[in-house]
Amino acid sequence: MTVEQRQARRENQRYSASMTDEQRQVMREKRNQQNRARRRTLGPNCVVRNTPHGSEIGSNNLNTTDVVYQNLPVSAHILKTQPDCRHCGAKRFEYEPPGFCCMNGKVKLQIPAPPEELRRLYTGEDIQSQHFIENIRYFNSHFSFTTMYCDYDKNLASARDGVYTFKAHGQMYHNIHSFGNGDNEPSHLQLYFYDDDHSLSHRFRRARDEIYRERDISIIRCLVHILRDNPYSETFRSLGQVEDVDEYRIVLNMDYKLDQRTYNRPLTSEVAAVWVEGNDINKHFDRSITLFGNNNNYYSIRPSDGCYDPLSYPLFFPRAELGWHSDIPRQGIDISQINTTRQRNADNSG
Ligand SMILES: [Zn+2]
Repeated sequence: MTVEQRQARRENQRYSASMTDEQRQVMREKRNQQNRARRRTLGPNCVVRNTPHGSEIGSNNLNTTDVVYQNLPVSAHILKTQPDCRHCGAKRFEYEPPGFCCMNGKVKLQIPAPPEELRRLYTGEDIQSQHFIENIRYFNSHFSFTTMYCDYDKNLASARDGVYTFKAHGQMYHNIHSFGNGDNEPSHLQLYFYDDDHSLSHRFRRARDEIYRERDISIIRCLVHILRDNPYSETFRSLGQVEDVDEYRIVLNMDYKLDQRTYNRPLTSEVAAVWVEGNDINKHFDRSITLFGNNNNYYSIRPSDGCYDPLSYPLFFPRAELGWHSDIPRQGIDISQINTTRQRNADNSG
């Protein structure tokens, strides 16, 4: 450091010591503004460091903070607003190719009206509706028939301080478990077994503590009622009263591909079948998963299976309406043509 720099530093220190907190804050703001302006002028790789004797510009002697922050853009990149799809009304992002949502109108989905009580929860402005919307992930998870699985940072996800952060690595899966319970508390699809019990104590035990409890319970009661017509709920509730539940099997149809424009509310017999070990199952599906009452094995469900959405997101598909699948019929193409093509492909690959 030269003699002049030392002198300037001493003067700075003397001046700084005589400043009020407010003046210091103003100085800091001003210096930060100057640094931002320099970064804009000198490019994103430039490093500006605040030192006791002023700011330094360069890339040498980087400390950790400099390395982390040196390439941060000075302003947010905002995608250009795009008009909604003129065929299906989907919100669109910049750079999405045309036809990304509905193949330029070739796919027309039937959107069934939600049950009135559920519609009120989604759109109402009362305290119950607000609590539902603010905690919808919790409620969906409570009523989901599947469990989400991924490789995530458990310490970070359970941290109590700071902004809630969920960091996952790799792919996310949805698994469905068999219903062999053992000594554990019922969870996920097992909860449906006991929904005919008016006390609903099996579900309320899973309500959160403290401030949420009362509101959670009120909404859980409401959702049990809403989902009573759900074909999966009907299937699982039918096992609530049986003895020897470990003798029972549930076969889930993984292959139902009804035309959504015509059939949007599947029947219980179309989505699942219940049978007892030793008896012949009288309902066969082309593709299925069998759940067992005497173990708790789990099975992965593919996002391309039409039942993935209703099993994982029952609050969006309260009547188990078919979700997205790769054979959704297009306008002008009959479901029989699709089946013929699929059969041909299967024959060729087999
Ligand atoms: Zn569209």
